This record gives sequence, C-alpha cells and structure tokens, in this order.
Amino acid sequence: MDLGLIALTYLLAVTFLLIRNNLIAEETVKELECHKKFNLVGYYECKSNDYFSFTTLDGKRFLFIGDEYNQHAYFHELGHLVFDDFIADSFLDASILFPIFLLPIPWALVSALVLYIIMKWIKKNWERRADLFAYEMTGQKYKPIQLEKDKITLLYRWLFWSHPPEIIRTKDEYYKKEIPLIKLFIKSLLT
Ligand SMILES: [Zn+2]
Repeated sequence: MDLGLIALTYLLAVTFLLIRNNLIAEETVKELECHKKFNLVGYYECKSNDYFSFTTLDGKRFLFIGDEYNQHAYFHELGHLVFDDFIADSFLDASILFPIFLLPIPWALVSALVLYIIMKWIKKNWERRADLFAYEMTGQKYKPIQLEKDKITLLYRWLFWSHPPEIIRTKDEYYKKEIPLIKLFIKSLLT
C-alpha cells in the first residue's frame, strides 16, 4: 500500500472516531441536567450514574457525576478536562489501524499487539496525570473496586487496560510524580 493511501485511511478513521464520539457525546448530554461551572477551566457539570468526562468538537467540556459523590473521582475527571486533548485521543485510537497496512508482513499481528499496548500505555499516563491532579486537589487517593489477586491479572491489566492496575493506584509511590510508571510496572511484577 502506498504512503498516501495509508495516510488517507488513517485520517478517515480519525475523522470517523471524532464524529462518532461527538454524536454520542451530544446524545448523552441531551438527556441530562447540566449546570455551568468554573474550576481552572469552564465546564458543564451533569448528573449521571457514573463519573466520566469529555470535550465536544466545539470545545465544550462536560463532567458527569455518578450516583454516589466521590471527590477523588470528581477531580480525576476534572483533571482530564484540564490536561487531556480529546482530539488526540481519536488519533491514538486510530493508530491501531497501522498494523493492518503491514498485513503482507508475517509479524503484522505481533506489531498490532505491540502498538495496542503502546497506545494503552500512553493512555495510562494520562490516567495517572488525572489521578495525580485529583490527589493534589483533594489529598485523596483512588478507591479501588477490585484489587488484582495474582500476577497474571496484574500483568494483563498493565498491558491491556487504559488505567493502571487498581492495586497500583492505591500505592504511595504512584502519587509521586517523579517515579515513572515503567518503574512501578517492573517493581509490581518482580516483588
Ligand atoms: Zn480517567
């Protein structure tokens, strides 16, 4: 496949994701009660059943609050709104298409897997940035839902989740900015 065609397919995938995500976002907001707020950035706060956040293509930020008030979760989502680039997210998601262009090469599946793990690793760093922000603002750490019971689950979550593993998000070292995630990854599997 020539380079121009690859670039075009990639950009089409990015455009598709941006439009699809934006439509879902607009549909979600329509059904909810939202109020304007300001805390470092301007955003709309909406009542929902879970904590999440996004920015629509026209630049409006939305923060959704779950049924039970959770201060860490609130500031975690606010951290996403302050730091994350939601457009970059679609570029990142579409990057898993690249290995398809390499299909004639026998190791295409391996490269797909590696690229997927890298993509998730970048996201994990964004999630940590949101956790650090929430910790700075509230002094509260993430409250885990289900801790990893064995190393296999731990490794699986390290590689394939967008968030760092639950047990890692509760550790003191995780909230020290200067310690890179890769160090926590190695240490958690070896000890
Ligand atoms: Zn998050």
